[in-house]
Amino acid sequence: MENKHCPCCSGLSFNECCEPLLSGKMFASTSKELMCSRFTAYVLCDVEYIYNTTLKAERINYSKAEIEKWSKENNWLQLEIIESNEFVVEFKAYFQLKGSNVVEVHHEKSTFVFENCKWYYAYGVYNN
Ligand SMILES: [Zn+2]
Repeated sequence: MENKHCPCCSGLSFNECCEPLLSGKMFASTSKELMCSRFTAYVLCDVEYIYNTTLKAERINYSKAEIEKWSKENNWLQLEIIESNEFVVEFKAYFQLKGSNVVEVHHEKSTFVFENCKWYYAYGVYNN
């Protein structure tokens, strides 16, 4: 994993891209970076990272068990960033339910909030 390409499809190695964020050495400097690192966290089933980068006020809508289930029951294939500005990132995440050969697309516009010097995922609007 260490020297391989980052799962978020940035083209960088994991160590130069999402690893410092997932390990807590660095914080995401933009909402897009946070988005990419959260996709990587889904690939690696880093439930704590996904939970901890969700805005505190919104965590009530998520459970670690559900995050873990969604993360593990799919093979995460690819992340495509469609458009992003300071607070909103539109993306498509391509995945396959394990055991299925149908590629599914999760198309979402995510809104992020900058709070206490860190970016957090607030909520998403789904397009599929
Ligand atoms: Zn990455």
